[in-house]
Order: sequence, then structure tokens, then C-alpha cells
Amino acid sequence: MLRQFLLAASRSGGARRLVETAPYTRNVVTRFVAGESVADALTVGDRLISDGLLITFDHLGEDTVETAQAETITGRYEDLLTRLAASGTGTRAEVSVKLTALGQLLDDGEKIALENARRICAAARDAGTTVTLDMEDHTTVDSTLRVLTELREEYPGTGAVIQAYLRRAEEYCATLADEGSRVRLCKGAYSAPDSVAFTARDEIDKSYVRCLKVLMAGRGYPMLATHDPRLIEIGGSLAGLHGREPGGFEYQMLYGIRPNEQLRLARQGAQVRVYVPYGEEWYGYLMRRLAERPANLGFFLRSLASR
Ligand code: FAD
Repeated sequence: MLRQFLLAASRSGGARRLVETAPYTRNVVTRFVAGESVADALTVGDRLISDGLLITFDHLGEDTVETAQAETITGRYEDLLTRLAASGTGTRAEVSVKLTALGQLLDDGEKIALENARRICAAARDAGTTVTLDMEDHTTVDSTLRVLTELREEYPGTGAVIQAYLRRAEEYCATLADEGSRVRLCKGAYSAPDSVAFTARDEIDKSYVRCLKVLMAGRGYPMLATHDPRLIEIGGSLAGLHGREPGGFEYQMLYGIRPNEQLRLARQGAQVRVYVPYGEEWYGYLMRRLAERPANLGFFLRSLASR
């Protein structure tokens, strides 16, 4: 119930204004978001890299409604990647991109998003790194997979995300588990109807394990995006079973969530990538993090009440 409410709020303009103007929201935001500027993001990134972690930067923004806004976000990614190239950090940092931020929902949006994503992929290649296409609301999945196919022709290292809550997740993984393919597997953070997605936690977890088996047995590079201790353990065991060395897959977690576990895995020799969001458009991202965990909502409300 609460999760559905928060996910609905993540798309509501009224709730957005209320949360954005609440005086102490920022205390909560900084727990999950590196800051508003590219400099903030790079500072956090450098610290995580010096701790032995890898990064994927996300310039926050989604559901873009104007072509100019899509253009601005594309430019911001190019700027970030130019800086990564200059600092030589490209080997330890990549970028995550939401196609709705690049214009996917505009008229003729798939074409616009593809062209913008091409520009970002070109900048990523110049910086010696790659791009992963985040997966968003279920209504955008087919379009995002079509864009991925186009991009991979020119930029084969472009990564995909599969959400285990989708009933078709295992089928998507089977299609994507080919040579050179980078696939991030996550549970799924959006609201999706029963007809297309599992909604019970245990069903989602079972789907995650089925997908993991397909990806680990395949020829691609699995990226296990989860904080769930049981799934992390199963992932490690499956990697061993399929003879994958630590460099043959990676764990991924969100900035600010289970940071000690991120370090523990990295110190054991695993590759661990932290998803580092930054920018001014943090609202939708924050609401999804609150929806995942009621304890975060309590923390948020307490921080508002205690001032
Ligand atoms: P859960 O069962 O939700 O959590 C397991 C444990 O992790 C919890 O018990 C708690 O200890 C900890 N935890 C989880 N969430 C939180 C939180 N918000 N705050 C504090 N502790 C928490 N989803 C998409 O739909 N599309 C994407 O493109 C996408 N990309 C992602 C990229 C990365 C690197 C990661 C890590 C997640 C991504 N997600 C994406 C989000 C994902 O789908 C889940 O919503 C999110 O990771 C929570 O699921 P979980 O697997 O951690 O398991």
C-alpha cells in the first residue's frame, strides 16, 4: 500500500513541489544523492574509487517533456564524460542513462532518445568507458530494448538493465546473454500491473534467481544490482559454479545503501560498482528509494519534524 502510494507520489507534480520545498528535505537527499553539480559527483566518485570501488554516474532526470531539456541532459553527460576522459577515471567509472530523460516520451521520442544516446555513447568511447541504459516504467521496456539493439551495433559494450519483477525477465535475459553483452539485473523499482509483473516479494526473488542462472551460464557480463544479502550470496555461488573469475561479473549497489557491504565485497576481491546519482532532478529517484524501505520514510519524516 505504502509502496504504491510513494510510487504514485513519485509521478505527482503536487507532491513533488511539497517535498522539494520542505526546508529539511536536503538532509535526506544527501544520503542517497552525491550533490547537484558534476564537481560534487566527481568528488564522491574519487573517494569511492580510492576505496577500491567502481562507479556508474547517473545525471538525475527523467520523463523529459521538452526537446530542449533532453538536449541539456545530453550535454551534461557529454561534459561529465569529457571530465572523466581528462582525469583518466574512465577505466573505473561508466555512466547510467535514462532514455526518458533523453526524450523517449516526446513525439517521435524513440528516435530523439536514440540520437541523444548515440552522442553519449560516442563521448563514453572517447573517455575509454561505456554506457548502461537504465530500465524504467514497464511501458518503455520494448522501446528501450530496441534502442539498445541499435546502439550495440556501433557500441557493443552498451549495457542493458533487466528488472526481475517483469514476467518476461527470464526471456529477456536469455536473449541478452550473448558474447560481449553487459546486463544489469535488478528487482525493479517502478509500479507495474500484475499482468506484466510479479508483485509478491518471494516471486520476484525467485525470478531474480532464475535470471541469474541464465546470465551466469551465458557468455555475457552479468552485473548483479541488489543489496539483498541472500541474492548476493547466491550470485557468488553461481559465479563459482560457472567458473567465473572475480573479473567475469560484478556486484552493483546504490550510493548510500549498505556502504559497508560494498567495501567488504571489494576487499574480498570482488568487483563492486556504486551507482552515484547527482543533479538537481532528485525527486523521482528519492521517492523510489523511500518506497523500497519504510525505514527510510521514517528517517525522512523524523528529519522534517525534528527542526
Ligand atoms: P530489497 O529486497 O529491496 O532490499 C534488500 C535489502 O537491501 C534491504 O533489506 C535493505 O537492507 C537494503 N535496501 C534496499 N533498498 C534500500 C533503500 N532504499 N534504503 C536502504 N536500504 C535498502 N531499478 C529499476 O527499475 N531500473 C533500473 O535501471 C535500476 N537500476 C539500478 C541500479 C543499481 C546499481 C541498483 C543497486 C539498483 C537499481 N534499481 C533499478 C533498483 C532496484 O530495482 C531495486 O528497487 C533496489 O535495488 C532495491 O532492491 P534490492 O535488490 O536491493 O532488494
